[in-house]
Parts: sequence; structure tokens; C-alpha cells
Amino acid sequence: MSHYDNIIIGAGHNGLVAAAYLAKQGKKVLVLERRSIIGGSVVTESFGDNFSVDSLHTGGTLRPDIIKDLKLASYGLQPDSAPQPFITLLADGSPLTLDVESIKRISEKDAARFPEFVRFMNKAAQIMDVTYSTIMPRLPMNFGFKEGYGLLEWALELKLAGRKDMLNFIRALPMTAQELVEEYFESDIVKAAICAVAIHGSTLGPMGAGTGYTLIHSWMNRGGLAHKNVGKAGEITTALANAVKAFGGEIRTEAEVASIKIENQIAKGVVLINGEEISANQIFSAADPKHTLLKLVGAQDLPPEFVWHTQSIKMRGSVAKIHLQTNGNHGIPEGTLVVAPSIKYLEKAYDATKYGEVSEEPYLEVTTSGNTISIHFQFAPYALKSGDWKLEIKKVEELAINSLSEYFPNLRASISNLKSLSPLDLEQTYGLTEGDLNHGQLMLDQFLFMRPIPGWSNHKTPIDNLYLCGSGVHGGGGVSGAAGRNAAKSVR
Ligand SMILES: Cc1cc2nc3c(=O)[nH]c(=O)nc-3n(C[C@H](O)[C@H](O)[C@H](O)COP(=O)(O)OP(=O)(O)OC[C@H]3O[C@@H](n4cnc5c(N)ncnc54)[C@H](O)[C@@H]3O)c2cc1C
Repeated sequence: MSHYDNIIIGAGHNGLVAAAYLAKQGKKVLVLERRSIIGGSVVTESFGDNFSVDSLHTGGTLRPDIIKDLKLASYGLQPDSAPQPFITLLADGSPLTLDVESIKRISEKDAARFPEFVRFMNKAAQIMDVTYSTIMPRLPMNFGFKEGYGLLEWALELKLAGRKDMLNFIRALPMTAQELVEEYFESDIVKAAICAVAIHGSTLGPMGAGTGYTLIHSWMNRGGLAHKNVGKAGEITTALANAVKAFGGEIRTEAEVASIKIENQIAKGVVLINGEEISANQIFSAADPKHTLLKLVGAQDLPPEFVWHTQSIKMRGSVAKIHLQTNGNHGIPEGTLVVAPSIKYLEKAYDATKYGEVSEEPYLEVTTSGNTISIHFQFAPYALKSGDWKLEIKKVEELAINSLSEYFPNLRASISNLKSLSPLDLEQTYGLTEGDLNHGQLMLDQFLFMRPIPGWSNHKTPIDNLYLCGSGVHGGGGVSGAAGRNAAKSVR
């Protein structure tokens, strides 16, 4: 049986970040990925000739210190592309870019307030970044100075932000996105466009408590309202894989872990679905906490209360993706474009999912890369009240194309090929339990000390030598790499 210092389950960006940090420390590292390609949610893949697309997450960018630590530029990571426009659509179908000059067209007051809003959001994102870089001690357990040290750095960052921004940051977290944007803007179209970013990937409406937090989270991950590096998701994970290999690590694809081997509450290795066993001193799982703990470990090896908490992690995926290959004559402008005409529209789109229904009038986020158009569709609940995702996905495709065609009448005729992904596909193909993008909803009762579950926020588990390093732990989701880096650092 082969033996490693560290096995990492899952070659998404967090697994690769953890692997690269560990391999850089001189550890003998093996990454095991169930799919035939690496990347997890950060992947560019082909669905046909000239039909290559970021199938799940559009672009993204890792934290600058991770890029520097792992020398990712030398392993093929290109510099960030120039900021892209963030565009919403007015009732007459014309595009409105969210910048001072364009906003003046509809409200002088909103245009005047926009720079202050951007300044505050950048500051809030900076504080959030430090928060995510801090390994959270295991509240409500006791913790020593070493474990609590990160909290001091976090408190210092808050203090340095100044009293006004510190207070506004803390206030913003539990607020609804609607309340937050209403403190700045008067026009519904501007407010709704920003609220769309707050609910992106969350099963929440903009009137839901805690969407102030998800707005700051998304802003931090995107570096603003619009996505960066659209069409280049694969470059991130390819550079990370190059770094892992350059530091001496190994990556195996088509190597699905069926179970984690445990003896006397200590993780000893993994068993692959083909029966192969590989042993290791430490196992890191970048798969989501429910999958890792309930399937790969199993309830029989875990304390009952821990099992109950793990079962209770809210997943609730409600996103579908529709990728369109076109002849280029679709009329959709480049950038990140949202169909979000009003806050009420977004809230109603969310209402459907509460009852297990697909939104008839969905919130859409559209990105273009060459002739390919990617549509992020909300809300499409994983748990349908009735029907089957194999059939229901056709309805989602039609709703998305119809909705966009109202603004871009040439779209339908321009389509030559289509690939859609339902929440069930996100689970079955990409390994996301219940189609949840972030390995667990980003909600106020599932962040900081409570991610993945209260008492276990420092990457450890009740099984010695088994650690969690994916988006389901503090530092995730998004494409920052913080969860993977923090996990690797936590075992030093
Ligand atoms: C459609 C979509 C849109 C998104 N948009 C945004 C956004 O705008 N802003 C934002 O902040 N975040 C967004 N996200 C979330 C973000 O992309 C994820 O949080 C992040 O990429 C997850 O990275 P990860 O490495 O933790 O996990 P993953 O990328 O999920 O990687 C986990 C890997 O583990 C593998 N695996 C699972 N089980 C096993 C097993 N048993 N054996 C071997 N391998 C296994 C999987 O195949 C996968 O490759 C989006 C996600 C999706 C899906």
C-alpha cells in the first residue's frame, strides 16, 4: 500500500491550494479527484467544438497573498483582466452600466452617492478578507492564546477601519440587502442590480436578514460588482495544479474516494471506489462537510450530537446554469449583466423556491466569453415540490432564453448549441451535495465560529488527523482559496 504525509480529497481550487502549501513545506502530498478533470467549481470545460466555457463559476480571482506565496504567476496564472462593466437593464431594454456617469442618466442623487457606496464596500470587503484569513477558535469550547491570536489581528483590522466604518460593517452583516442599499440610493433599478449580487448563489431574497453579509462576501470575492477573468476559471486551477506538481505533489484524477479508513478514532488513509487503499498521516477533505462526514466517514464513527449538527447543515442549492453557443449576433454586451428589474422582482423570484418551484420570472446573471453566453439562473430549487430535474431543466432553459429575448430579440436565432446544468447535475457531476454552490449556505448562523458547525470551526473533526479544507468551512465559499490555505496552516 502506498503511503503519503497528506492526502487531499478533491481537486477544486481549495484542495489544490491546501496541497500546494503542504507540498511547499516538503510534505509528500497526493490529491485525489473523482472527475476526469481537475478544478471542481473553478473549471473551464468543453461541451463541443468551439464551445468551451467556465461551466460553473464565472472566472474569479484568488487572494493576492496566495498567488504570491505559491508563485502562481510563474506556474501560468495570468494577471487579472481589466475590470468589466456591471450592467443592468432598464424597462425599455437599454443597458445601464453601474458607474457614476451612467447612473446620472436616471438619478443625479444616486450618481453622487455611488463613490461613497463603493468606498464603504471596498472597506467592508477588506475587513471580511481579514476575517476569512483568521482561523476561528472553537467556540463555545475553551481556547488558548495561540488559537485566539488570529482574533487579535482581526480586532486590530476592525479598529484600524475607524469607528464609523467598523460600526457600519458590523451593522451591515445582519441587515437585509434592501435596507443596506436604501441607505444610499433612491432608484429601484440601481438598488435591485446591487441586491442581485447579494443573493447570487444564496437561497435568500434581498429582503432576507443577512443578505447584507452575502453582499459583502460577493463583493470581496469579485473585487466589486462585476466578475473578473470571465472565461478563465480553468487558468486558476491549472496554475495551482502546476504549483502542486512543481513542489513535488501528485494529482490523480478518476480517483473517487469511497471511504476514509478510521482506526480508534484516527484517520489512517482512504479507500477508492475501485477498492484501492492508500494510507496517510493526515487526510484533508475539500469535498463538502456533509459528504465528507456522513458518507466518507459515516455516522457510526462520529459522536451523535456531531452527526445531528452535520445533518442540519443547510445546503439548499437553487441555481441552474445554461450555456449557449451562438454565432455572435446575440446583441448582449460584454461584462456582467443582470436581469433584476426591481427588488420586488428578485424577492418574488426567491418566493418560488420556498415552495419547491422554479421562478417563472427568474433573476439571471449573464456573462459572455467570445461567442459563448453563460446564464446563471435563480431560483431553481434542488428539492422540487413535484417533477423531475431531467424534464424540468427544459423549462428552465426556455424561461432563461425567453426572459433574455425580451431584451435581446436576436438571441434565439443566434443559438447553435446549448448545454444546461440543473441543481441535480451540480450534485451528480460536480459533487456538490444538494447542488449547494458554497458547500453550505452562507448565512449568519453558518459563518465565523459556526462554519461548518458550532465548535468545529478550526478545520478539525472528531476524527484525529482528518481536516476539512473546502468551501464549507470558515474562509469559504468563493474562489479566494482562504479555506484551503487556512487548513494547511492550521496543522503546522
Ligand atoms: C454556478 C456557481 C456559481 C458561483 N458563483 C460564485 C460567485 O459569484 N461568487 C462566489 O463567491 N462564489 C461563487 N461560487 C462558489 C465557488 O465557486 C465555490 O465556493 C468554490 O469554487 C468551491 O471550491 P472548493 O475547492 O472548496 O470546492 P469544489 O470546487 O466543489 O471542489 C471539490 C472537489 O472535490 C471533488 N470530490 C468530491 N467528492 C469527492 C470524493 N469522494 N473523492 C474525490 N474527489 C471528490 C469534486 O469533484 C470537486 O472537484 C459559485 C459556484 C457555482 C457552482
